[in-house]
Amino acid sequence: MIKANTVSQVREQVKKWKKEGLSVGLVPTMGYLHKGHASLVDEAVRQCDKVVVSDFVNPTQFGPGEDLETYPRDFEHDCALLEAHGCHMVFHPDVSEMYTEEIATYVENISDMPKTLCGKTRPIHFRGVCTVVSKLFNIVTPDKAFFGMKDAQQLAIIRKMVTDLSFGIEIVGCPIVREDDGLAMSSRNTYLSAEERKQALVLSRAVKLGQELIAKGEHDADKITSEMKALITEMPLAKIDYVSAVDGTSLKDTKTLKNGDLVAMAVYIGKTRLIDNFTVNCDKG
Ligand code: AMP
Repeated sequence: MIKANTVSQVREQVKKWKKEGLSVGLVPTMGYLHKGHASLVDEAVRQCDKVVVSDFVNPTQFGPGEDLETYPRDFEHDCALLEAHGCHMVFHPDVSEMYTEEIATYVENISDMPKTLCGKTRPIHFRGVCTVVSKLFNIVTPDKAFFGMKDAQQLAIIRKMVTDLSFGIEIVGCPIVREDDGLAMSSRNTYLSAEERKQALVLSRAVKLGQELIAKGEHDADKITSEMKALITEMPLAKIDYVSAVDGTSLKDTKTLKNGDLVAMAVYIGKTRLIDNFTVNCDKG
């Protein structure tokens, strides 16, 4: 596996691959990799000849007071995992390789998509995400890019960005990978104490409850999200940021659930903010 720190290293290598007629897949990550990330790499290896994984804690997507400084990092562990999953190149730049001191140009979705759900409490987050993902697309010029449905709002916003800006890159959404007990895998799970880890299970239990209600024929979004909220509130360490039902593409609020809608939540467990979601399938929940 090639370890690249600079934009020019990545560009030169990708140029060689493209000359040989090989397809290139990109998996953007912030590192501290787990099985959720690995599933994206596996899918990229299945679909592309060469796979590039970016491993970069992107400062522009963190707001003031968020966990940029404490975000967990372990590049050696990441490299071992990536090598084991058949990644061909990891791109691990310094912040100074990606950004000048004063940024004058951002890529920003100006609709309500980045203002709803996580955007209510993280107003600059998706501008940072769109900017870094655009930069990675320009650096790697992949044929396909792989994103997790765990970050469903991010996936919808990136799909819209790729359409609006004619990136010509296929976006592949990959299912949420969970721990055996149901907790969605996340680099931030490492922040949880033993007691918090137990109570964090309420997110996946709320997902299951929502799906069960839909499978029983309930399609009223308010009723479903209210029941999910009531379940979450039973946990003393849980504080709900939001539990919402939206259209899966436009992210506009929805009253009556239909296939493809998104039921998403963010919940603080102690100081740690966790997210989870499911896509509505009216036959199965
Ligand atoms: P992050 O490093 O948290 O920015 O995540 C990098 C990519 O991995 C994003 O596309 C995430 O949606 C995806 N991802 C993170 N956790 C999971 C998970 N548990 N299952 C599937 N994909 C995930």
